[in-house]
Amino acid sequence: MFDNLSTKLDRAIKTLKGQGSISEINVAATVKEIRRALVDADVNYKVAKEVTDKIKDEAMGREVLTAVSPGQLMVKIVYDELTQLMGGEKQDIVIKGEPAVVLLSGLQGSGKTTFAGKLASFIKKQNRNVLLVACDVYRPAAIDQLKVLGEQIGVEVYSEPENKNPVEISQNAIVYARKNNKKVVIIDTAGRLAVDEQMMREIEQVKRAINPSETLFVVDSMTGQDAVNTAKTFNDRLNFDGVVLTKLDGDSRGGAALSIRAVVEKPIKFISTGEKMEALDLFYPDRMAQRILGMGDVISLVERAQQQFDEDEAKRINAKIRKNQFDFNDFLGQLEQIKKMGNLKDLVGMIPGASKMMKDVEIDDDAFKPVESIIKSMTKQERAQPDIINGSRRRRLAAGSGTDIQQVNALMKQFEDMRKMMRQMNKLSQTKGGMAQMA
Ligand code: GDP
Repeated sequence: MFDNLSTKLDRAIKTLKGQGSISEINVAATVKEIRRALVDADVNYKVAKEVTDKIKDEAMGREVLTAVSPGQLMVKIVYDELTQLMGGEKQDIVIKGEPAVVLLSGLQGSGKTTFAGKLASFIKKQNRNVLLVACDVYRPAAIDQLKVLGEQIGVEVYSEPENKNPVEISQNAIVYARKNNKKVVIIDTAGRLAVDEQMMREIEQVKRAINPSETLFVVDSMTGQDAVNTAKTFNDRLNFDGVVLTKLDGDSRGGAALSIRAVVEKPIKFISTGEKMEALDLFYPDRMAQRILGMGDVISLVERAQQQFDEDEAKRINAKIRKNQFDFNDFLGQLEQIKKMGNLKDLVGMIPGASKMMKDVEIDDDAFKPVESIIKSMTKQERAQPDIINGSRRRRLAAGSGTDIQQVNALMKQFEDMRKMMRQMNKLSQTKGGMAQMA
């Protein structure tokens, strides 16, 4: 699911070039690519345009934190907008009443009966006594299908094979539920291959007669834009409370998930991702957006950097690096910042691709400890002028920090290597700058 969209969004965001802030010039191409990716994923054009306009407004002129790249910040902005597009907060199904009644609607083949079973099983697991009602008076096979499911999950199924009146069947089922201590009644109604007037009138009548606390519209996400159109037709007649998207495990391009909420202004409440009874999930807009972007780790990284990273400090350090003045005080400061951002294993896990690679590697949160104690054993002068740290000072540092001379030597070597690299980078950027000026 969403593989194509994810790949295209990833590519679009990678086109975002440049450093510092996101400007009109570098954002325009990216936003255009994002819009194309959404439309290709079957997102309604109007919705795609609205959301990309918002992304553009949001991105324009944003100062990019030193800790993240413009591309990473863009991922976060797109993520926020996709989450909003899909409704923002998770919305729960409302199960209220004695008994509570849930009415299911949708086209034939949408996965309605399968969902009825899944929902019954879901509610049963919360220790509530459930009754499934087969209200499809046109397809006897539908009644049998529900009975098989009911048996499988251990839920009773109410049906009246001879009765052709769905209003009566559902009313009778509710009376039966009251008598038999059933707390929740799930009514599976008839579906058609196409939306037709008789069927709409029928389900309207059922809804009016039984006054459900929740009416759900079940739709096959693989039908793309049609899913949105059908949702609109059903909503106009039924004013349903929520949407169930099915078959998200298939090669759905995901457009329905992204545009239904915006078009019908009703939340998606469940998603169904398979034929098995367990394949039911509550719908979380934020998790879905993460899945679409396939970059959940980058999003958390940007969020944490936004919360924790001290921008002024980063600028000060950069200036010191440029002047070849990076010393042990700065080094210690950097360690503190990294530690503030969370535990090491988590941080490494956030680097895309790294979590898999590092799965079996033990990362010890105390890894910094010896380094910190060595630096803390240094005098002020030693920290500011590491070059004066000679053999006897090193022995003193080892003794003072409870480490040994090899650890001190290793740290000194690493620090010197780091400074060398910084000097080289400075030289390189100066040459580049110089050449650019000459050109
Ligand atoms: P109804 O006509 O709306 O009641 O639809 P059904 O529940 O009979 O489902 C139609 C077909 O879709 C059946 O073959 C189901 O097994 C299948 N189906 C239902 N939900 C899902 C799903 O989430 N994923 C997949 N792959 N198949 C599903």
